[in-house]
Amino acid sequence: MSTTYRLSCDCGNATLTAHGEPEVSLYCHCGSCRALYGTVMLAGTAWRDDKVELPEAEHIIDYKMSDRDMRRFVCKTCGVTVYGRHKPGMPVIPHSLFRKANGGELPAELAPTLHLFYRDRVLDVADDLPKSDGGELMGM
Ligand SMILES: [Zn+2]
Ligand SMILES: [Zn+2]
Repeated sequence: MSTTYRLSCDCGNATLTAHGEPEVSLYCHCGSCRALYGTVMLAGTAWRDDKVELPEAEHIIDYKMSDRDMRRFVCKTCGVTVYGRHKPGMPVIPHSLFRKANGGELPAELAPTLHLFYRDRVLDVADDLPKSDGGELMGM
């Protein structure tokens, strides 16, 4: 069985499709993710390039951070971040897009399995998931 996720930004101009399973669904607390996404942690999924169809270039802004090699792809019309690219290079799609496409709930099969860079956190999280001080759990 293969699942297909049809995702979009808020206004619907930037659309993505993801097939099957992500490589990982996680929370990342590193300073780079916090800066790139403007949140206290990244809640997202990382996908192999051959499993996703990304938005057409005409609908998005490709923003590279000024001081590091991290990119954020944003809808030109509504400003919602539809994916990012950073270590290890795979497209990272925020959980929020899957929630939007699924009546507000994260699909159960996409539940995050770990925390990365927990030592860098600005918010404690009281759950039972494994917490990696750095990137060890992802081999980083
Ligand atoms: Zn939009
Ligand atoms: Zn991170």
